[in-house]
Amino acid sequence: MMDRNVIAIAEHRTLPIPPAAARGTGALADTRGRALHDLRISVTDRCNFRCVYCMPREVFDADYQFLPHGELLTFEEIVRLARAFHELGTEKIRLTGGEPLLRKGIDRLVAMLREALPGVDLTLTTNGSALKAHAAALKAAGLDRVTVSLDSLDEATFRRMNDADFPVAKVLEGIEAAAAAGLGPIKVNMVVKRGVNDHQVVDMARHFRGSGHIARFIEFMDVGSTNGWRMDDVVPSAEVVQRIGERFPLEAAEANYPGEVAQRWRYTDGEGEVGVISSVTRAFCATCTRARISTDGHFYTCLFAQRGYDLKSLVRGGATDDALAAAVDAIWRRRSDRYSEIRTAATPREPKVEMSYIGG
Ligand code: SAM
Repeated sequence: MMDRNVIAIAEHRTLPIPPAAARGTGALADTRGRALHDLRISVTDRCNFRCVYCMPREVFDADYQFLPHGELLTFEEIVRLARAFHELGTEKIRLTGGEPLLRKGIDRLVAMLREALPGVDLTLTTNGSALKAHAAALKAAGLDRVTVSLDSLDEATFRRMNDADFPVAKVLEGIEAAAAAGLGPIKVNMVVKRGVNDHQVVDMARHFRGSGHIARFIEFMDVGSTNGWRMDDVVPSAEVVQRIGERFPLEAAEANYPGEVAQRWRYTDGEGEVGVISSVTRAFCATCTRARISTDGHFYTCLFAQRGYDLKSLVRGGATDDALAAAVDAIWRRRSDRYSEIRTAATPREPKVEMSYIGG
């Protein structure tokens, strides 16, 4: 029988769960005054790509043990947790992974979330490989937008990076299908790794200029502990902006909302904009309002966290909706993470949860 006051919510610690009456006293904020606005939910730890910076094939090989199906949150459990987060202020939900379109019935999950949370901004990040097949159904189910990852337009470079021999053209088809279905404006994310695809930065910008889609350039990050991250491999966003600006003049644009992750740069000739995400060279921990739920239902308060809080056990242990919300509330109030601000030469070697499991 579960102790109602102290519920084990992590392998390594227990947290006192405040009574429901203790919640709602003032807006929810963590120890640094950051609200809980965004939730990323990883719906599968599997992916059909083996991107060298995310799921390197040497580690994620044929012997790699992915989560057994019973460990994954069910759609009903995902909706319950999403509702609890929404009750505490979450207005944006992003489905991710692994590759979220590999999760069977993903359209049904989108429909369930849409029905439960009609006003929430509901988005999904995908590698685009199955987007052409899914775009219309995702839109019909109530998805607002998609973000598509594409690391190069050069065939050989892209295939080398996804390490699954996947062609560029299929991802571009997925992007066009999503746009046609009304899932735009589409953001196209390129992780820039020095000496691997940085020669493609200007081509990527050129390709999406004037298309209505927004190319975004992400600094290669030290997420997880399998991608062999080195600072030398990072191309600072300032360099990306300079390279694009030399060819197509840019001016800084205002953030769309406080705490926006990407810095926006607009083409001075009116042909749209690009974004840069500078987690390494310009940490944005101070405004980070993002929570993450891993595929197996652990709650992480930082992308670079070493451990999470086991919400699945709470859900499966019979916790009420109120107890769930109280647990999330208590965890968020104790949050103090600011990994990117305090990154040192040593921290990238610390064991951290893998991106495919926690969700990008
Ligand atoms: N499979 C989906 C996809 O490819 O977009 C969703 C999951 S993926 C982990 C989410 C995003 O994280 C992708 O844009 C990916 O490029 C990015 N990502 C993964 N590892 C990264 C790293 N080490 N540094 C920067 N971005 C990374």
